Amino acid sequence: MFLIAGIQPKIKKLEDTPRQCPSCGQFQAYRKRMDHYLSLFFIPLLKVKTGQPFILCDRCARTESPESLDRSAGSAPRKPRCSDCGRSLKPEFSFCPFCGTAR
Ligand SMILES: [Zn+2]
Ligand SMILES: [Zn+2]
Repeated sequence: MFLIAGIQPKIKKLEDTPRQCPSCGQFQAYRKRMDHYLSLFFIPLLKVKTGQPFILCDRCARTESPESLDRSAGSAPRKPRCSDCGRSLKPEFSFCPFCGTAR
């Protein structure tokens, strides 16, 4: 009997909306994840490992971690902090409830 079994990587696209690639500037970067499957006759049967999500650009094939992309794009919601005591503030606060510093 001739069996072909093994672990196969499988890239899954996690979103359909392209993001801007920080490397080439084109909106062809997608959030993807590489999972590993136990496969038999090249048919994935069982997921054995769930990978970390990453950003892969279809144009320049550059990969980025989602964290670095969010940081460079500045799209991540930043928590407002008091410039004086450094505690996190609610966005609607006009002054710090801890030390009274106006924002
Ligand atoms: Zn690119
Ligand atoms: Zn404060």
